[in-house]
Amino acid sequence: MAVDTQIWTDIDYDKPGKQTGFLGVPQSTNTSGWATQFIPIVVVQNGQGPTALLFGGNHGDEYEGPTTLLKLGRWLQPEYVQGRVILLPMLNRPAVEAGTRLSPVDGRNMNRAFPGQRNDTLTGVIAHYVTHALFPLADLVVDIHSGGRSAHFLPSVNMHRVANERQMREMVRAAQAWGAPWVFIYKDVGGEGLLPGYAEGLGKTTLGTEIGSASQYGATMLRIAEIGVKNVLRLYGILQDGEPITQPDRPPRVVAADEQDDYIMAPVSGIFEPFYEMEAWVEAGQTIGQMHLLEQPFAEAIPVVARTSGMLISRRAFPLTRQGDCVATLVRPAEF
Ligand SMILES: [Zn+2]
Repeated sequence: MAVDTQIWTDIDYDKPGKQTGFLGVPQSTNTSGWATQFIPIVVVQNGQGPTALLFGGNHGDEYEGPTTLLKLGRWLQPEYVQGRVILLPMLNRPAVEAGTRLSPVDGRNMNRAFPGQRNDTLTGVIAHYVTHALFPLADLVVDIHSGGRSAHFLPSVNMHRVANERQMREMVRAAQAWGAPWVFIYKDVGGEGLLPGYAEGLGKTTLGTEIGSASQYGATMLRIAEIGVKNVLRLYGILQDGEPITQPDRPPRVVAADEQDDYIMAPVSGIFEPFYEMEAWVEAGQTIGQMHLLEQPFAEAIPVVARTSGMLISRRAFPLTRQGDCVATLVRPAEF
């Protein structure tokens, strides 16, 4: 089926074997009128089976996805695959190269650009291609994120609470197979238009992740990402490399932040001082930290008070904070 898009590629999604290549996205600049942004893509297909669509670098300052998928893309061979794997290790490549969450080309957040439009800024053109050319091919969608520079996270595999109970149970089952310590059901408090939210809406089994942050980036988090994505591919029989699904030391715990108040926003701007480390349990009414006011250095610090009870699954990573920044997220054991 021809897709109505500005993007061109030599990749043939129906061709057996392994292909590496690019999505060519028109990018006209001051110094290069007919330039193209090359978004790398790997397709490995062998026989009949489901299709997994894997993304890294949706946000540019989250390098767990690019690292994991660049390695997987080099390693994966057709004989390991039953079905098809399509992977894009740097979906928002300009942001990955700039080390920024948002695209430096148009200032947009790839993870708020879905479904995108044919005639849009660069970010929206890529989102539109994913929506119309790639999502229809996929049974399983994985979008690897971390907290980047802004938030520390306990390593978790996540999803929204979707209305379709069968889809919800399947997503939690797949998330548990990943083997990260936490499965995290979250709400969109930071706007709509997310890649995983759109894929969930199409009924796809969709997994996001928050595997640490820029300052937690290291061997432990990368192992969770690499083992996890392979485990999910093995769960669906797409990866048949002879390795069993790795059992974690402790079964993943399913938790949720279902209330708006579980996402604690800074009441004023200043330096956020946390009082607790992640995994601490706090009660509603408890002071979880305080804001030091830079413009009133001799005034008392302003308390940041929890309005719900729960465990800290994330907290702000960069101390300098603006009013309204999310400084902590609280979760409770979840029913699903
Ligand atoms: Zn992200």
